[in-house]
Amino acid sequence: MSAYNMVIGLEIHAEMLTNSKVFCTCNAEFGGDENTRVCPRCSGLPGTLPVFNQGAARLAVKAGFALDCEINNYSAFDRKNYFYPDLPKAYQITQFSYPICTNGFVDIGNKKIRINRIHIEEDAGKLVHDDYEGVSNADYNRCGVPLIEIVTEPDIRSAEEARALVEQIAIRLKYAGVCDSRMEQGSLRCDVNISVMRPEDTEFGTRTEIKNLNSLKSIVRAIEYEYERQTGLLDRGGKVVQQTLHFNENHGTTKPLRSKEEAHDYRYFPEPDIPPVFLTDEVIADIKSEMPEMPNDRKTRYVEQYGLSEVDAALLVSDKDLSDFYDESVKVYPAYKQISNMIIVELLRRLNDSSTPIKDLKFSPESLAQLVKLSDEKTVSKNAAKDILFIMFEQGGNPVEIAKENGFIMTTDSSAVESAADEILVANQKAVDEYKQGSAKVFGFLMGQMCKKLGKSANPQIIREVLTDKLNKL
Ligand code: ADP
Ligand code: MG
Ligand code: ZN
Repeated sequence: MSAYNMVIGLEIHAEMLTNSKVFCTCNAEFGGDENTRVCPRCSGLPGTLPVFNQGAARLAVKAGFALDCEINNYSAFDRKNYFYPDLPKAYQITQFSYPICTNGFVDIGNKKIRINRIHIEEDAGKLVHDDYEGVSNADYNRCGVPLIEIVTEPDIRSAEEARALVEQIAIRLKYAGVCDSRMEQGSLRCDVNISVMRPEDTEFGTRTEIKNLNSLKSIVRAIEYEYERQTGLLDRGGKVVQQTLHFNENHGTTKPLRSKEEAHDYRYFPEPDIPPVFLTDEVIADIKSEMPEMPNDRKTRYVEQYGLSEVDAALLVSDKDLSDFYDESVKVYPAYKQISNMIIVELLRRLNDSSTPIKDLKFSPESLAQLVKLSDEKTVSKNAAKDILFIMFEQGGNPVEIAKENGFIMTTDSSAVESAADEILVANQKAVDEYKQGSAKVFGFLMGQMCKKLGKSANPQIIREVLTDKLNKL
């Protein structure tokens, strides 16, 4: 057995968040009853003319900025001819010769992966296979949803790097408002090109392309399987055949879909029905001015201005919704560290345990800020704050109301504490004697008795003071 290195390049398809489709005015949102979001244009009826949605160009440019690309003033559409029943026109409108963005890179921590290009294209429909009836139904709702395809250079050298890259691109596209990056709904999908070579080889090996992976886990599994398959083949004296593969999730194996097609198989030609896209420098600058703060900048702000640790800041920015929630909370009450702690220690655990997306939370960032403030100001104890968060998580509601309803507001009035202390000292004469003889341990016991009697509204600091005071006077 000799060792091989793997070489990987990705092609990532991301659905852009425009309201309407890319060449017609149909709704581009995910879902809908089958074939309810179609019109003569996106279902490919002859005689219809596509009209380019300029919003799609703006989002593609934002994707370019998000991935540090050059934005091209001139880009143009081509027809890619192929017949498959999910594409009723029998060709896909894409950008082949003149993509909208080129030459970018994505930093995955220890290295930069180069982006070759980003181009705009239209999505195809979906085939729904009904094994029971033995038929396939075509749903064209997705036909004409605007996509970008991001093509990387073959710079990736491990499954782990591939995973990190897709994760990073997903986050960045989401921050830029280009794509919701929901792999489970197919809005971000990945084709993996992979080959293997011996360390001493000067040229890349023959590659295969695994189509349409829609989770980080399948990307990693497919790469690991395909690496084993290719190296096994070479070790046995065989050759890798360049082909397109399908990854079977259940078996964890790849299977050929078709032999690899070449560009000339598609008979690309310039799309005659759509004028090229001209973006002036002014328009490009205008789109750039709309770019939101990206995760790295946010992280720097959290560390340098808010004093969070690198680890906490990285965790917060790894999810845009979470980070937005944090930003909204600290706007209301700028206790940067305490709010970050409440989110990272308490809230994240509950979100993860119940697999709740942050968007579905029953309370607002303002309420979280209020809760942390209640705790900071010692209106409620730290433990009570956790209980309140739990109630807010389950039922929503306002932290002040919840604290009142549940008797969590700590009394600052010490008269209740004084009379409780009097009762407890009388009832626990033995402990009092031991304390007087110098046993510090029994103080804890007496504190416990006090807390039990006074409940959650008890302010431990006041109890401690009153109790010490009374004991010393005895
Ligand atoms: P094609 O035009 O045939 O699709 P491209 O040159 O556009 O080929 O490359 C498609 C993808 O395959 C890119 O992501 C590229 O990085 C990757 N790729 C190219 N050659 C190899 C190789 N030998 N091994 C792994 N990936 C490769
Ligand atoms: Mg390709
Ligand atoms: Zn349509």
